[in-house]
Amino acid sequence: RFRALRAVKDDAGFRAEFQQLTPADLPGGDTVVRVTHSSLNYKDGLAVTGRPGVLRSYPMTPGIDLAGTVVSDETGTYQPGAPVLLTGWGIGERQDGGYAEYARVRSEWLVPLPGGTGAEWAMSVGTAGFTAMLAVLSLEDHGLTPGSGEVLVTGAAGGVGSTAVALLAAAGHTVTASTGRREEEAYLRSLGAANVIGREELPGLKRPLEKERWAGVVDSVGGETLAGALASTRAHGSVAACGLAGGSALATTVFPFILRGVNLLGIDSVNCPTPRRRAAWERLARDLPADKLADVTQVRPLSDVPALAEEILAGRVRGRTVIDVSR
Ligand code: NAP
Repeated sequence: RFRALRAVKDDAGFRAEFQQLTPADLPGGDTVVRVTHSSLNYKDGLAVTGRPGVLRSYPMTPGIDLAGTVVSDETGTYQPGAPVLLTGWGIGERQDGGYAEYARVRSEWLVPLPGGTGAEWAMSVGTAGFTAMLAVLSLEDHGLTPGSGEVLVTGAAGGVGSTAVALLAAAGHTVTASTGRREEEAYLRSLGAANVIGREELPGLKRPLEKERWAGVVDSVGGETLAGALASTRAHGSVAACGLAGGSALATTVFPFILRGVNLLGIDSVNCPTPRRRAAWERLARDLPADKLADVTQVRPLSDVPALAEEILAGRVRGRTVIDVSR
């Protein structure tokens, strides 16, 4: 028997509770992983508190990220004991995820832990950090180079934002971090932000085109923030849309696109194809300064997840949270 945090919905309504499961309770799949670490993402906060839109059926084990070692792999791709990580592909949404000591998944979803890294490192990156890496790769693919100019990161003190600030600064970009938490200025500067501005200092969408400012943008906020970022992006600059922490609606005009050639880049971490996925993890292992990551990460036991879920939805979690699944 092993422990799992389960999201349950029945006549009594929704609840998240700890249950003892057996291997027979695991979903179908060709590979069993002994999970040592998971992480806490915004989406996990939604799932664990029963907010709509994440869990597709019940009961379900939330947790969109996991890392640990392979127990068995029917495809023969991984040997028992191989260290692996898994983010997205619908785990913790459509199929049981990382908030349990064992998971059964598809071998093709796994990524070998990059050499020199461990499960705790992988989960301190997690979906949030992986998404930030995809955003930076996409901006680079569309021409962003160090020296191009100021790069804006919105929701900078959150998981995606913090990692984006660290990655961009490590790559030599001049990063402007936008946050609603001015008390996090020293933290954001320690990650490498050259400038820290308040949320209210971003223009929102008042005019179709604002003064050209950003060479690139990593946006985890969406809504008016994204609309304003598009209007202030420099000619032929790009905006990577990662999230909706501030709203999912997008009211904008076509002018940034047709008069300035601005690119709006969609970032999807869940179904990201395997070659891109592996390249992103290798780059994260190479470029994300381990000391910076340790500074922005807290490790908390699985038993704390129900309380942490409320915290992340309230915007009170700073940086990344690794979940120690054994505790
Ligand atoms: P997080 O740690 O909660 O960070 C979100 C940040 O957004 C907060 O820390 C806050 O930053 C800011 N924020 C929160 N509420 C806001 C509001 N009402 N208005 C303006 N800013 C607000 O979450 P995360 O894990 O980094 O995820 C960030 C977003 O990206 C979420 O919407 C998530 O669903 C999405 N996401 C998407 C993908 C993908 O594949 N595209 C992957 C992962 C996450 P400050 O305190 O600094 O202002």
